[in-house]
Amino acid sequence: MSDIRVRFAPSPTGNLHVGSARTAIFNWLFARANGGAFILRIEDTDTTRSKDEYTRSILDGLRWLGMDWDEGPEAGGDLGPYFQAQRLHLYSEAAEKLVAEGKAYRCFCSTERLDALRNQQQAAGLQTRYDALCRGVSPEEARRRKEHGEKYVIRLKIDTNQIVEWDDLCKGRILITTELLDDLVLVKSGGFPMYNFAVVVDDTGMKISHVIRGEDHISNTPKQILTYRALGFPQPAFGHIPMILGTDRSKLSKRHGVTNVIDYEKAGFLPEAFFNFLTLLGWSPPDEQEIHTRGELVSLFSLDRVVSHAAIFDIEKLKWMNLQYIKALPAEELFARCEPFLRSMDGYPGQYTPEELLELVGLFRERMNVLTEITDRASYFFKDPDSYDEKGLKNALKTPDLEAVMNELATDLEQLSAFTHDAVDGVVRRLAERRCVGAGKVIHPARLSVSGRSDGPGLFEMMNVLGRERCVRRIKKFLEKRLWSR
Ligand code: GLU
Repeated sequence: MSDIRVRFAPSPTGNLHVGSARTAIFNWLFARANGGAFILRIEDTDTTRSKDEYTRSILDGLRWLGMDWDEGPEAGGDLGPYFQAQRLHLYSEAAEKLVAEGKAYRCFCSTERLDALRNQQQAAGLQTRYDALCRGVSPEEARRRKEHGEKYVIRLKIDTNQIVEWDDLCKGRILITTELLDDLVLVKSGGFPMYNFAVVVDDTGMKISHVIRGEDHISNTPKQILTYRALGFPQPAFGHIPMILGTDRSKLSKRHGVTNVIDYEKAGFLPEAFFNFLTLLGWSPPDEQEIHTRGELVSLFSLDRVVSHAAIFDIEKLKWMNLQYIKALPAEELFARCEPFLRSMDGYPGQYTPEELLELVGLFRERMNVLTEITDRASYFFKDPDSYDEKGLKNALKTPDLEAVMNELATDLEQLSAFTHDAVDGVVRRLAERRCVGAGKVIHPARLSVSGRSDGPGLFEMMNVLGRERCVRRIKKFLEKRLWSR
């Protein structure tokens, strides 16, 4: 393995979000492309909002997308624990070291004082920031107040006249002045670390070489760099990837529809299609082709092809891509992917043989953007239709002598020696010739009577799977309804 070590560090305060999944994918691809390690770290220091069920759902989401991690929950590793809540001693040790070195200090200011300060600054039209009052508390006094049980936070001293700069792997050189920063809280009064501090301690402890994350973290990076410097830790390389926007160009949120990865699974998207789709949100392959296998993506991925503009999450494009992946699935695989959805259908699996079921699902291969569509599109295979769609009926009623035509069709089908695609095709065409009408005049009412619908796969393929018994029974039922005499 190379020295490249990247991490995905979700906070388990919700299910795996589309944006987080994309961050995970870029990290995973970067690790796999470079023979590095991909580490999963759970940032669960927000004890009120973090939940085990979210950790589980994040792990499930990553696995559904086909990503494995070399170190982290359920994988182990030498540089754990991989849950921040189990690393509190490491943060306090690091913070105490900074206090001892005079680079950080205990701040005893009450929330009331801080609120009042903020209000005053706001009223005066000033930038709100901590006034560093407790920098003036001597180490002896601080020790005494601490021993007396006074509450405090630990703050890092930040000089506001610096420029922090780094060569961003995706954005190029970035310079940020520290002018607007105040003395950074590292550890809160309950001993829990702030995100910016924990991340530095952990990225160092876990030997992270490259930090690849969303552009919304750019403003955190100078704070983290200053913390690395104070601690005397080597700094990793940083790469910030563009935000994902909805088609209206606002930040992707629930308003744009589904944002949880798990819901895309439920909606019938293929994980490999979703993975491919997410790789194109902010990155473009050198060959400009959209469809790539996971293996190809690993060999093509590089951070220098991360785009600088925001990425647009276009659900229509995702559906198109999903269809391409569905089309390419081998028959057995397509059936296996559809089966969980088929199981929810009324009448499934009926009296069909496994071969017939395979064929049945195959009839919809070219027609499904998402696998869940099968439940509606194929419903009549498992339940005789009890109503007929309006458009189809209107069309069917245009056939002259409809009743006679359908009666003849039923009889001809009953008399066929073998009920096959070609035999049914022959019956329909001969019947149309005898009646001196175009084939459509038989095909439309036949389709309507056996399926109740005017859309669907080719009629003969469909009837072949339905089989003689169902087809004849349904045609007779259609006749009994005498819809032409309404
Ligand atoms: N827990 C942070 C988040 O979910 C991690 C950010 C980072 O990658 O540094 O946004």
